[in-house]
Amino acid sequence: MKKLALHWKILIGMVLGVLIGVVFSNFEGGKEIIQDWIKPFGKIFINSLKLIAVPLILASLIKGVSDLKDISKLSKMGLRTIALYIFTTVIAVSIGLILVNMIKPGNSISDKTRKELVQNYAENAVKYKNAAEKQKDSGPLQALVDLVPQNIVKAASNNRNMLQVIFFAVFFGIGLILIEEKKAKPVKDFFDGFNEVILKMIDLIMLAAPYGVFALLAALVVESPSVDLFKALGWYALTVVLGLALMIVFYNTLVAIFTKKPPSFFMKGIAPAQLLAFSTSSSAATLPVTMERVTEHLGVDEEVSSFVLPIGATINMDGTSLYQAVAAVFIAQAFGMDLTLGQQLGIIVTATLASIGSAAVPGAGMVMLIIVLQQAGIPEAGLALIFAIDRPLDMCRTTVNVTGDATVAMIVAKSVGKLGEPKVKDWDDNYPKEE
Ligand code: ASP
Repeated sequence: MKKLALHWKILIGMVLGVLIGVVFSNFEGGKEIIQDWIKPFGKIFINSLKLIAVPLILASLIKGVSDLKDISKLSKMGLRTIALYIFTTVIAVSIGLILVNMIKPGNSISDKTRKELVQNYAENAVKYKNAAEKQKDSGPLQALVDLVPQNIVKAASNNRNMLQVIFFAVFFGIGLILIEEKKAKPVKDFFDGFNEVILKMIDLIMLAAPYGVFALLAALVVESPSVDLFKALGWYALTVVLGLALMIVFYNTLVAIFTKKPPSFFMKGIAPAQLLAFSTSSSAATLPVTMERVTEHLGVDEEVSSFVLPIGATINMDGTSLYQAVAAVFIAQAFGMDLTLGQQLGIIVTATLASIGSAAVPGAGMVMLIIVLQQAGIPEAGLALIFAIDRPLDMCRTTVNVTGDATVAMIVAKSVGKLGEPKVKDWDDNYPKEE
């Protein structure tokens, strides 16, 4: 019998997770059972993905850069990658702003609900505000300074420092190109083999993915706040989700125009990474799988994917920037503020920068939202308004973030002649591959 494709298995795991979560929320002690006996498996699954992220970036990026042979190719690819990342982010923020101005979700929030929400979540808002303050205290060039680690071991010991590890790997790869071929070969061979091992480890971890997402979603459901709060925020959530859906359409259009690949090919190829992004709310944790899918299933040469994707996971967050734009205007509307055109243009700039600065972990977009609010002069207390529904929206925006990275990887690959036929065809997807 034909084996079920991985994305179906993950989807079944997700649905069962939600169902079990709902069932166990409805009787006494059910929440604790899930927290004690199911949640840890979700944690183990995420940990194993994160565990693989730093070695993966190191191995694949060093291999990728050193394969390039000459450095001018690297700068060509680098410029295109960054330009596309900024372009898609600006489009995302603009879509968000247009929708939120059309739908006006903030106007449907009554005074009473607003006060309730602000009261319920005021404490959390303060916590996030402190985190944002720390980030804001630094000077304008701090991001550049942060790029260069003083110690590679220290940088590699924290998944938040992914850009520093990328910097080291690219630098190392450039060094490798510049030394004598005879000396470079063993080093290259080592990273080649290392890379293969890591890819195999990802295959193995993905065997557990359906169970991992089952545990993650069951835990999420028993821990989520009451449905009533969700209802009050329904229009706001709808605006964000609609914007995110439009972004997926936009990506498919870009892929079709630039690479001539149909949406069914793109979506099928990337689906497991999307589902994982949805379940983990973390682009960083999803990165190993995004790399694997884009390389093996979408036909992007590793030279390109190993460069474009790790950078994308950290700086290209279209879903996050769209959400920040909608959230900022929604809060302004709920507080009865009218934003001028200038203020809205300011939101485009800050939301773009803030999404670049957001870490690729759950909830990071919300911390950076504070900076967007402050810049536009919108009351920060409004953050408490959107807390209740942030996690589900985080799941959706992370899915878009990951899809955006894959889109850019395909376009850049096509533009440098590195988009080929996929190694694994999804229509006979026996994944992980059976040897
Ligand atoms: N969780 C998102 C990501 O990892 C970032 C965010 O919007 O909070 O891509």
